[in-house]
Amino acid sequence: MSRSMAHRRHRELALIDGDTVAVVGGGPSGSFFAIRLLREARLLGRHVNVIIIERENRIRHDGVLWQSRGCNYCAGGISPRLNEVLERDGLVVPETVVQGEIDTIWVHGLWKNFPFKVPEDMRMYSVLRGSLPQRKGREFGGFDGFLMRKAVEEGAQIISGEVLRVDYSDSGMPLLEISPTSGTTKHVQASFVAISTGVNVKCGADYGANSLIRSLQGMNPRFSPPKTRKALIFELEVGRDYLKKHMNREVYFIEYGSRKLSLEHIALVPKGEFLTVALIGKCIDHAALPEDTIRIIREVLALPHIRRILPNLDPVPLACSCAPRMAVRPARHPYADRLAMIGDAAGSRLNKDGLYSAYRTAKELADTVLHYGIDEHNLEAKYGPVIEWLARDNRYGELAFGVSRLTFCTPVVSRIIYQAFATELKVRDKDRRPLGTVLWKMASGTSDYREVLKGLFSPSVLRSFLIGGVLVTLRNTLTEMLFGVKWGECGRYPTVIMKEKRGDVKRAIEDGLGIKMGESPDFERMYKIRIRALPGRVFDELGKFGDERRNYLKLRSLEINRLSGLPNEMGSVIEYRLKYINMTLRMRLANLVPDRVLLYAVDEKLADRGKLIFDIERREDGNCGLVLYAGFDFKRGETLLGSVYWKLFKILFPAFLHDIFWNHALCRIKEDVERIVEDGEFVEKKLVSLRGQA
Ligand SMILES: Cc1cc2nc3c(=O)[nH]c(=O)nc-3n(C[C@H](O)[C@H](O)[C@H](O)COP(=O)(O)OP(=O)(O)OC[C@H]3O[C@@H](n4cnc5c(N)ncnc54)[C@H](O)[C@@H]3O)c2cc1C
Repeated sequence: MSRSMAHRRHRELALIDGDTVAVVGGGPSGSFFAIRLLREARLLGRHVNVIIIERENRIRHDGVLWQSRGCNYCAGGISPRLNEVLERDGLVVPETVVQGEIDTIWVHGLWKNFPFKVPEDMRMYSVLRGSLPQRKGREFGGFDGFLMRKAVEEGAQIISGEVLRVDYSDSGMPLLEISPTSGTTKHVQASFVAISTGVNVKCGADYGANSLIRSLQGMNPRFSPPKTRKALIFELEVGRDYLKKHMNREVYFIEYGSRKLSLEHIALVPKGEFLTVALIGKCIDHAALPEDTIRIIREVLALPHIRRILPNLDPVPLACSCAPRMAVRPARHPYADRLAMIGDAAGSRLNKDGLYSAYRTAKELADTVLHYGIDEHNLEAKYGPVIEWLARDNRYGELAFGVSRLTFCTPVVSRIIYQAFATELKVRDKDRRPLGTVLWKMASGTSDYREVLKGLFSPSVLRSFLIGGVLVTLRNTLTEMLFGVKWGECGRYPTVIMKEKRGDVKRAIEDGLGIKMGESPDFERMYKIRIRALPGRVFDELGKFGDERRNYLKLRSLEINRLSGLPNEMGSVIEYRLKYINMTLRMRLANLVPDRVLLYAVDEKLADRGKLIFDIERREDGNCGLVLYAGFDFKRGETLLGSVYWKLFKILFPAFLHDIFWNHALCRIKEDVERIVEDGEFVEKKLVSLRGQA
C-alpha cells in the first residue's frame, strides 16, 4: 500500500498542544490562516506553533517589520465585503498601505457607462500587494507585508525560502523540503500543512507542472489543482494629477475590447501615482507572453473607449508588467490527512474579489483544524463545503459574466439596460432600485454570483427592464429618428441626476445666482454632465447657443437662433421655432455670472416662471460639472375655453422630448470642449518634448 493510501484511512487526527502548523506561502491566504488559527487557539487556551514559509520575504533590520518583495500579481482592489470582514477582525488596513479610496465603480457599457456609487456605509479601496512597481517605497511592503506583520504579531514565525516538495515522513507527518533564501536545503516536519501558494508558484507557468504540486498529488492522488487562465497586468506611472483629472476616486470595469483585440474583462484601478490595468480575454489566452506584452498594451490604450477614459498616454508610461495565472475553477479534493489548500491554491471567486475567497477559505480551514480535526474525513466534512461554495460560485459566475457581457456589450440590450437603470435613478427612491442594486452587486463583487443571477431575473428587475427600459428606449429611438438626432461617433455619457440629489443641485444654482427659485414648477428637469475642462471653456461653448457654429441641438423641425445680442451677452434673445406649425418660444438672457451661470427667462406666451439655466460647477478633481435646469408652470387660462386649452396642452406636452434633446446636446458639448482641451494638451506635450530635445 502506498504511503498516501495508508494515510487515507478514516482515523481521527487532531492538533495537540505544542504541535507545529506549517503554512506554505505568505500571501493573503497564508497570513489570514495564521492569524485566525493563532487567535482562535489562544481563545481556546491551546498552544500551536505556526511557521509561514514565504519565498519572497526578507526580514528587516528591526526584526519587526516585514516587507513583501516583488509583485503578487493582482489589481489590488479591496471589495466592500472584504473590507467589512477585515474591520470586524481588527485588521484595519493602514493609510500607508491604502493607495486610493474608491467612491465610484464605472462599468463600461456600449451605450453609456454605468456609474455605481459605493454606498456611504461601505468602503472600497486599492492597495499595492508587494513592493513593485519600484520607486513607491512603501513602509510595510504593501498589503501582503501588512498581513504578514499581523501574523507575526499573533505569534507566527517566518522562514524565508521556497518549499520544494512535501511528503509524508515515516511517522505519517508532513515533511517539508525547503530551499532557504540563504544556506542549504533543510527539512521541517509539521503536524499540519496549509498550502497557500496561490497559482503562480512560477509566474504564468503551468501550475500543475510544479514539483511542489506534483509532490502534493503524490500525497493526495484525488487532488487536482485549480483550472487557471492567463491574465496580463501592467502598471502605468501616470502621476497623481493625471489620475485626479481622469479617474478621481474611481475604478473602471470594461467587458469588451474590439473585434481584433478580444478581451472579456479590463480593470482600471488607480493606486497613488500608478494605474493598474488587468486584462483577461481570448487575445491574452492566445498571446505569446511576455513577447506580445508591449503590442497588446499599445493596442489596449488605443481602443476608442479606453482613450476616452485615458487620453494622451503617448509615450506609454509603462512601469512594469507581468502575465500571471488566475484561478477560474477550484481544485478537486484539496485536502488529505494533515494537509489542505487555501486561497487561490484551492480556488478563487471568478474575476473579482479573489482576496475575499482567500480570506474565507483560510478562516474555514483554521476553524476546522482547531474545532474538528486534521484528518481527511473531518476536513472533507467541515472544510469541504467552502470548496463546494467556490465551485458553485464559479459556475454561477460564468453564467453571470455571460449575462453581463450580453447586457453591457450588445448595442440594443446595453441601451435598454442603461435606460432602465437611469429611469430608476431618476424616479425611484434610493432604496427602491432593484436593477441598480443587482448591477452594483455584480460590479463590486459584494455578493455571490448566485444571488446576482437570482436578482437579475427577479420580477422587480424584469419590470424595470420592460417599462423603464424597453418602452422608454423604443419611444426615445423613434423620437430621435423623427427629429434627426444622430449619435454617430459622438460619445454617450450619463446625464441623469439621482432623485435624492436634485435638491442639492437646485441649491447650488441658487447659490451661484444669489436667488431663490421657490417652489418646484409644474415642469422641472435637470441633467448633469462631467466635462474635463476649465469652466471658462464650457462657458464659451455655451455662448454658441443659438449660433450656426454650434454642434449641439441641431434638430430637424426645430430651429434655434439668436435673434439679438452677442454670445453670452445679457439681454440677448434666443428663439425656438417649430418649423411646420410655426410655433415659437423666446427666451432672454436675464442673469449671468461669468464662467459660472447663465439664466434664460422664457417669455410668458407659452409658460409662466419659465427658466433655462446652465450652471457650471467646479469639481474637486479640477474638472467641471455642467448642469442644465429647465422649469416652468403651465399656463392656467383666464376664460373657460382658455383653461380647457391649457389643461389639454399640459396633458399632451411631450416632456420627454426635452430629455432626449438635452441628453444628446450635453454629450456633444462635452465632446467638443474636451476635444479642444485635449488637442491643446497634446500640442503642449509635444512642445515640451521638442524643447527638451533642443
Ligand atoms: C490579474 C489579476 C488581478 C487580480 N485582481 C484582484 C483584485 O483586484 N481584487 C481581488 O480581491 N483579487 C484579485 N485577484 C485575485 C487575487 O490576487 C488572489 O485571489 C489572491 O492573491 C490569492 O491570495 P493567495 O494568498 O491565495 O495567493 P498569492 O497571493 O498568490 O500568494 C501566494 C504566496 O505564496 C508564495 N509562494 C508560492 N509558492 C511558494 C513556495 N513553493 N514556497 C514558499 N512560498 C511560496 C508566493 O511568493 C506568494 O507570496 C487578481 C488576480 C489576478 C491574476
